[in-house]
Amino acid sequence: MAEQLIGFDLGGTKMLAGIVGTEHQVSSKVKRKSMTHEGAETVYNDIVATIHDVLRESGVKASDIAALGMAVPGIINRKKGVIVRSPNMGFYDFPLVDRLKAEFGFPVVLENDVNAGVWGEFVAGAARGYQHVLGVFPGTGIGGGIIANGQLYAGAGGNAGEIGHMILQLEGPLCGCGQRGCVEALASRTAMSREAAGLIANGTLTGVYAENGADIKAISSKFFSQGLKEGNPHIVAIIDRAADLLGVHIGGCINLMNPQLVLIGGGLVERLGDYYLKRVDKAMRATAWAFVAEDAQIKAATLGDTATLIGSADLARRSL
Ligand SMILES: [Zn+2]
Repeated sequence: MAEQLIGFDLGGTKMLAGIVGTEHQVSSKVKRKSMTHEGAETVYNDIVATIHDVLRESGVKASDIAALGMAVPGIINRKKGVIVRSPNMGFYDFPLVDRLKAEFGFPVVLENDVNAGVWGEFVAGAARGYQHVLGVFPGTGIGGGIIANGQLYAGAGGNAGEIGHMILQLEGPLCGCGQRGCVEALASRTAMSREAAGLIANGTLTGVYAENGADIKAISSKFFSQGLKEGNPHIVAIIDRAADLLGVHIGGCINLMNPQLVLIGGGLVERLGDYYLKRVDKAMRATAWAFVAEDAQIKAATLGDTATLIGSADLARRSL
């Protein structure tokens, strides 16, 4: 009986595939750069090549694969297996599941990437043992995922949990989704980098911080971890403001869902650690109703990249 699974994490900078066993153990991880600027067909061909690579590397035959879980960013139609809209990848109404099924023959299940990551932490990581979890993943964007009563709450089409695209400021900065003033446009690492770029351009930030100029793309999470370590007041102020905004937003969200655990993952907490987590926690507790906040622990995710592989594979297995 086919028992092995493939978990696949399609990201904006890289794609990652791994063989996932029944106990959530991951082997033969294969990585490839996402050539997103070359359009959907190139990205698709690279997905296919990465799956062939992981099969070859692991020595597992396609006939021994029970299912493939595809975790993708953007808006999906889970039932139809279609990526409705993933602008960064160039996917619009792309029938990913049908095409991969035709290529490999095994069942393929489509998931939102952050939902899959939160599920991975739930079955094998920091969220194990909690029945009600709000996952928040601030990095270049801000993703989210909800576990309610021990089940992934994916919503009608598979797109629930988009905590980053709730509007916090009317007429605020433009968001990648086309709206203005989304949490993601105010508190993501990209928003922080935009703020830092402004301070470089006007001469407030100088020296090593201004080395790469005011190019937003050159201002990475490392820039902020260094600024935090050295106690640069301007950079610390950017971090504080972003963490406070996110904490306030999460405070409202936990009033809505009363979770046991707020799980924070992604690039910012990986780089800024406890300082960031505590700041978010404080703002969250100052915002939420006290008795709702009392129910909610806050924790950092522990599995990193692997969470999405484990989660997408496990969700695919469960949908068989
Ligand atoms: Zn948005």
